[in-house]
Amino acid sequence: MGSNSIRLSGSGTSGVAAPTFGPIDAVVFDTDGVITRTAELHRAAWKRLFDDYLMTHGGDRQRPFSDEDYLAHVDGRPRYDGVETFLSSRRIDLAYGERADAPDVETVCGLGNRKDEYFQAEVAKRGVHAYDTTIAFMDALRSFGVVMAAVSASENQRLVLESAGLLGSFDVLVDGVESRELGLAGKPDPALFLEAAARLAVEPARTAVLEDARSGVAAGRAGGFGTVIGVNRGGRPDSLRAAGADVVVDDLEDLSVHQHPDGGCQLHVEDRS
Ligand SMILES: [Mg+2]
Repeated sequence: MGSNSIRLSGSGTSGVAAPTFGPIDAVVFDTDGVITRTAELHRAAWKRLFDDYLMTHGGDRQRPFSDEDYLAHVDGRPRYDGVETFLSSRRIDLAYGERADAPDVETVCGLGNRKDEYFQAEVAKRGVHAYDTTIAFMDALRSFGVVMAAVSASENQRLVLESAGLLGSFDVLVDGVESRELGLAGKPDPALFLEAAARLAVEPARTAVLEDARSGVAAGRAGGFGTVIGVNRGGRPDSLRAAGADVVVDDLEDLSVHQHPDGGCQLHVEDRS
């Protein structure tokens, strides 16, 4: 455990008391973007999929898939929704198909399944890296007895955590495979987070949610979680605040863990501006 992950209140230079959240007994982490640096791998897989596909369509529809396309049409959405939303932005209408469609079938599901193959190939090729600061924060939480869950809408959560060496680091995992089997609605519905809290046997009101997507922040708020912290990875902190985040940080190094007299913990947010 890095001692710098448990900072004392008032250790910042501003002289203003750090905003404090809690008490909490548990933390539920979103996976992609909060624990792991997977956005880059997803973006590369989406770009490969759509740039190939757009080649077969004429006119301005051929314009390559851009970072703006990723943020506007794909990021945070379930895979098939992302395919549909992006294609309709280029006025391309494609049959939905079925989940079982092979990756070479030209349907929304087929393209989504092809993207999944590309993503898994990126993981195999480049490996998944976790944020060191998230690992330090987890170490601090563990030293205070705070229980932890990792939640993801992705069916690749276990693959991603295993590649990052973190598969055994959480008390509870809830992924896209289970959420489909249990019939849980996707974010912004709070079902995934509530399932994690139930399995941790904690009260949502005494649980913090950490999320980098607008839909996930909204889910934390809708689920009655006591603390919802937005993690700004994409440069859009206002959209996380608008979705209901109590506070937005650029990285988990801005958070420190402190004992609360009732046995739980409090989170302090350091002002680094
Ligand atoms: Mg995320």
